[in-house]
Amino acid sequence: MSDPPERIPYRIGDVVRLRKTHPCGSTDWEVTRTGIDFGLKCLGCGRRVMIPRTKFERAVKQVLKHGDGILRFPGLPGS
Ligand SMILES: [Zn+2]
Repeated sequence: MSDPPERIPYRIGDVVRLRKTHPCGSTDWEVTRTGIDFGLKCLGCGRRVMIPRTKFERAVKQVLKHGDGILRFPGLPGS
């Protein structure tokens, strides 16, 4: 018997802390895209990466902030 894994509904705009430290020294990332692959933006250096959801879920240590799920386009003024 195994308990069903706790599914956290990640949303765009979530800020998460990962177990691995990015080369820039930051462990905090913003979710920029959800789905089969997750898009993440490093809050230290701004680098963007795409990783599979399963890998992302294993890498997350803590959710620091919950986003509102609204996709924003960086570079556009205001909202
Ligand atoms: Zn970085």
